[in-house]
Amino acid sequence: MKVLSAPAVPGRAVERTAWFIRLRWYAAAGIVVFAVAGQSLLGLHFPLGLAPYLAVALCVALYNGVFLVLNRQAELAQRWSGRLTTVQVILDILALTILMHFGGGVENPFVSFYLFHGIIMAILLPWRSVVLHVLFASACLTGVAIAESIGKLEHYHIVGVCQMAHMPKWRFVTIALFAFITTLTVTAFLAASIAGRLHNRERELEKTNAALAEQDRIKSQYVMRVAHDLAEPASMITSCLKLVTQGLVGPVPPKTLDMVQRAEHKSEYLGHLIKDLLSLSAIKAERAVTTAEIDLHDVVNTVFEEVQLHAAEKNLTLEQDLPEDLPAIHGNLGAIHELFGNLVTNAVKYTLVNGRVAVCASNSGGEVVVTVEDDGVGIPADAIPHIFEEFYRADNVMAEAVEGTGLGLSIVEQILHTHGGKIWVQSDESKGTTFSFTLPVAKETHV
Ligand code: ADP
Repeated sequence: MKVLSAPAVPGRAVERTAWFIRLRWYAAAGIVVFAVAGQSLLGLHFPLGLAPYLAVALCVALYNGVFLVLNRQAELAQRWSGRLTTVQVILDILALTILMHFGGGVENPFVSFYLFHGIIMAILLPWRSVVLHVLFASACLTGVAIAESIGKLEHYHIVGVCQMAHMPKWRFVTIALFAFITTLTVTAFLAASIAGRLHNRERELEKTNAALAEQDRIKSQYVMRVAHDLAEPASMITSCLKLVTQGLVGPVPPKTLDMVQRAEHKSEYLGHLIKDLLSLSAIKAERAVTTAEIDLHDVVNTVFEEVQLHAAEKNLTLEQDLPEDLPAIHGNLGAIHELFGNLVTNAVKYTLVNGRVAVCASNSGGEVVVTVEDDGVGIPADAIPHIFEEFYRADNVMAEAVEGTGLGLSIVEQILHTHGGKIWVQSDESKGTTFSFTLPVAKETHV
């Protein structure tokens, strides 16, 4: 037995780093495209050819691959996410600075590309790191510009990009650097302040969401207690009325019998409603449920036995197609039984005489896909978006006076939610309905 709780949500920092890594693939490809297109389409002349650009693109792709692997190690990525991002940013700035150097240093018009990085840093990192990275980027470009100006580094003038044929003058270098550093600083700090506000808002929303979820849970607990207290008297009333209608307490005048039969009918409905309310509120109120491996063949056989009588009254054919080697699923037995019970009961309830109800299942990697199909009354197109809402019932079944509480599918949806499954429906009015859902395969039988 294991305990099933809500699936772990990946840390936000890890998600952001994954986004950063995705962007970097485009950057690596962009370097190659820019260099090749610049040379072949725009006729630019790179003093050292394409080799330095392709080498930088390759390095970027290589270290991005390493970070991708590291970020997928959940524990490591969670613990080291801040440091991993810092190392990535440093490598990116170095790669960009090398590209700038081979592309004309401070005279390279793409020097504004540092701004993109500044914005990404501001979104991903705290204020202190943003300051350090702005300083680092500024120092890198300033270092290259000075080194090129004093002849410590070769200056590669790209013919066709910049008008100046020779080493830029000091005045130009100073103004260009000043413009670059102020733009980078202002952009990074504006982005950091906007990102900071958004992060705060996100945190507030998360807190509010958690508080609402907890309130909802408490409300469900309350509903569960009330439903629980109502269940016994309601069942007692039904039993007493049954004694009267079955004539076990002596003869009853026909008019009185009719009234008592109606009361019995309503009291039975009340019993169903209380049972459904109890199920739904219990699922919502519980934080964790015990789980085990479940063989779906057993579940379907039991459910078919339960609906057999009702199906026979309408001469329905009950079919099942579950492969012999269908893997066991991982879940709470009571809940899974209720899930299948509700869907099959609905299919039987909403299918006309001589119809057919079929349950099929298949193994699709890590999950089992189940379909519950019928050729019954179907669901009107405008009702489909609402059928999982609590107490919702479509007009066609109300008109046919088929009884129901409108809670069965809400229970189904909640059960699948707690089991990490999903459900969808396909229906044609008067042709039939197919509900399909997924359930996770138990780890041990995962193939
Ligand atoms: P109910 O107790 O009314 O069956 P559910 O929550 O189980 O409540 O279903 C909600 C509504 O969805 C039903 O009232 C019906 O309109 C529609 N529905 C569900 N299953 C089927 C089905 N197999 N065929 C046609 N309509 C269905």
